Amino acid sequence: MKYEHDRQASEEILRLLIQKMAEHPAAFTPQNYAVWYEYVTGINPALSETLVRQVGSGERLDDTTIEGLYLKYVSECNMDVEWALREDIQHLLRKLAESTIETEKQAYRFDTSLHAYGDTLKQNPDPVSLSALIKNMADDTSKMIDSMQDLQSELAASKQKVEKLHLELHSARGEALIDPLTGILNRRGFENSAKIALSNQAALGSGICLLMVDIDHFKTINDTYGHLFGDKVIRAVANTLKSKVRGQDSVGRMGGEEFALLLAETDISGACTVAENMRKTVEGCQIHRVDAQEKIGGITISVGVAEYVSGNSLLDLLGHADKALYASKKQGRNRTTVYADIKAL
Ligand code: GH3
Ligand code: MG
Ligand code: MG
Repeated sequence: MKYEHDRQASEEILRLLIQKMAEHPAAFTPQNYAVWYEYVTGINPALSETLVRQVGSGERLDDTTIEGLYLKYVSECNMDVEWALREDIQHLLRKLAESTIETEKQAYRFDTSLHAYGDTLKQNPDPVSLSALIKNMADDTSKMIDSMQDLQSELAASKQKVEKLHLELHSARGEALIDPLTGILNRRGFENSAKIALSNQAALGSGICLLMVDIDHFKTINDTYGHLFGDKVIRAVANTLKSKVRGQDSVGRMGGEEFALLLAETDISGACTVAENMRKTVEGCQIHRVDAQEKIGGITISVGVAEYVSGNSLLDLLGHADKALYASKKQGRNRTTVYADIKAL
C-alpha cells in the first residue's frame, strides 16, 4: 500500500496540507490533495524537490501546475515503467552477449596458439627459440586472464543491475518490495534478499550475521512530538543503518520502528562493530521538528545480533536476533546484545 498512515497520523497530515493548499489558487481536487499529501509526508523526494523549488521562487500553484505535478510525480504510469524496464533488460542482455562472444573468440585464439606452440615443441627447438616460445605463451596466457577478468566484472555488474531491475519490476506490478516511507526494503523485500544471501553463504563458507534494531520508547516520541516527527525519526534511523553497511548487505524495515539487517561475509565481532557504530551514531543525532526550528536529540536504538550457524533458516536467525534484542531492551535499552551470549547464560 502506498499510503500507510493511520487515522491519527493522517489527521495531522490533513491539518498541515490544508494550510499548504490554502496558500495556492488551485482547486481542492483529489489530485491537489495527493500532491500535497506526498509532499507533507516526505514520501516522494523528487516531487518535494520540485515543489520546494517552485514555491521557493514565489510561484503560486494553479490547476495546470498541480495537474502537471500529479501526472509527472504521483500517478503511476505502469505501462511506461514496464516498457522502460524491458528496454533496460534487453540492453543488459545485449552487452552481456557481446562480452561473452568476445571472450569466446579470445579462448579460441588461445586454443589455436597453444596447439601451434605444441607443434613447435615437438620439433625440439633450440634454447633461444624455446625461451621466445615460453615468453609468447606467458603473454597469451595473461591476455586470456585479462579477458576472463573483464567478463567476470561485467557479470558482477550485471548481477547488481538485474537485482535492481527485479525490484523495479515488482514495484511496477504493484508488488512492492520497498518501504515507501524510508526507501529501504520492506519485510517482503528483506526476506527475498536475505534468503538469496543465505543460500549464497553456503557456497562462500564465510560468516553471515543478522541484526534486529528497534527504536527505544518510540511510542513516547510519537506521543510527545507527533506522528510526523515519528516518521522523520524512522527515516533518519533507516538512513543511518543504510549508511553503515556495504552494498552487498540487506537492510529492511520489518514494520513500525523495527529494522533487520543481514551482513554478508561478516563474523560476529565484525557485526558487533557495525551494530555499535550504528547505535552510537543514532545516539548522537539531532532531528528537526516538523515545521519548527527545535532540534530533538536523545533518540536511541537497541540491537540484537545473531550469527548464522549451519542449518539455520532465516526464521531461526530472525528469532535468535529478536531474543537478543529483547535482552537489550530488558537490560535498559540503547545497547547491543549477542544471541550466543544470552544462550550461554
Ligand atoms: P520499546 O523501547 O520497548 O521498543 O518501546 P516502544 O515505545 O518503542 O515500543 P512500542 O511497540 O510500545 O511502540 C511502538 C510504536 O510505534 C507504536 C506505534 O503507534 C508506532 N508506530 C508504528 N508504526 C509507525 C509509523 O509508521 N510511524 C509512526 N510515527 N509511528 C509508528
Ligand atoms: Mg520500540
Ligand atoms: Mg517495536
